[in-house]
Amino acid sequence: MKHVFGPVSSKRLGQSLGVDVLPSKSCTWNCIYCQLGRTKEYVTRRREFFPKEEVLAEIRAAVESGAAIDWITFVGSGETTLYKGLGWLIRETRKLTAIPVAVITNGSLLSEEEVRNELLEADAVLPSLNAGSPELFERIDRPAPGFDYRRHIDGLVAFRKVYGGKLWVEVMLIRGVNDTADALQDIAGVLREVKPDTVHIVLPTRPSTEPGVGLPEEAGVARARLILSGVAKVVCPAKGSMSLKNTQDVIETVSAITMRHPVQERELRHALDELVPDDPDQVERMIEAMLGSGRFKTLRLADGEIYWVQASDTRG
Ligand code: SF4
Repeated sequence: MKHVFGPVSSKRLGQSLGVDVLPSKSCTWNCIYCQLGRTKEYVTRRREFFPKEEVLAEIRAAVESGAAIDWITFVGSGETTLYKGLGWLIRETRKLTAIPVAVITNGSLLSEEEVRNELLEADAVLPSLNAGSPELFERIDRPAPGFDYRRHIDGLVAFRKVYGGKLWVEVMLIRGVNDTADALQDIAGVLREVKPDTVHIVLPTRPSTEPGVGLPEEAGVARARLILSGVAKVVCPAKGSMSLKNTQDVIETVSAITMRHPVQERELRHALDELVPDDPDQVERMIEAMLGSGRFKTLRLADGEIYWVQASDTRG
C-alpha cells in the first residue's frame, strides 16, 4: 500500500496503523532531530497531495483485513496537517470503524482555524512542544519564515480551548539543549498555558542527520519528569519495542517503516525473534534475505548501535 503501513507496535499507541498522507519531506519546520533528513524546501501551504478517496480505500482495506489495530494514526512524512483532506479523512475513518484515531503533528498549523476544526473529531492529537523560549525554538525546530514561536504557542492554546479529545503534547528531549533545569522550567511555564492532558517525553533514539543531537543522560530525563510533572501527567516510555506479529509481509512492513524512520537492528532482531521463537537460524536467514533484497542498508553510529535505513538513504 502507498499510504498505509503496519500495524506497527508504537510506544504510546499500541498496535498502530500508520497513515502517511504526504510526499517526503513536506514540512513547516526543519528540526535538528528529524529522522527524515533536512527540510530542503519548506512547505507551508495545505494541499490535497493525494486523492483522499485513494487514502481512505487503503484504510478501509487495512481495517477489513482483520489485523489487530489499537489506533489509526495519521503521521506524515513531514507535517501531517499540511494535508488538506485531513478533516474529511478523520471523519470518514470514524464512520468506517470504532478504532480510535490519532494525529501526530508538529502543531505549527494549529494557528489556523480551519486546521483546528479539522482535528476536532480525532480521539487524540499529539503536537510537539520542544522549547519554552523563542531562542530555543529557533535552534531546535528551525521553522519556516512566518512560523514564529508565539504563533506556535497561540495555536496550541487556541486548539486546547476548543478540543475535548486527548491532547498529548510531545517534548523531544535533547542532551545539553533542552534538558537543563532552566530550559525545562521554561517549557513547563508554556505547558501551563497549553493545558495538555499528558506530556510525553520522547527521546532521539534514532539517528538524526545533524551532529550534536544526543540522548539525554538519565539525570536529564529524571529532571524532565520531575519538572514537567508539575504541569500534567508525564509519560516517558522506555525504548520502543517493535512488533511484527500481525504483519503479513515482513519485508514490506520493514520497508514501510524505514521509509519513515530508521529502525534499530536490535529492535528488528527482537521482533523477528518473537515471530519465529527459538529459531535463531531462521532469524539470520530473514535478516540476510532482507539485506540481500537491496532495499536496505545499515548504519553504525558512534555509540556502536546499528540502524536500518532505505538503500537510497544518503546518510553513511
Ligand atoms: S516537524 Fe517532524 S517532520 Fe518536520 S522537521 Fe520536525 S521532526 Fe521532521
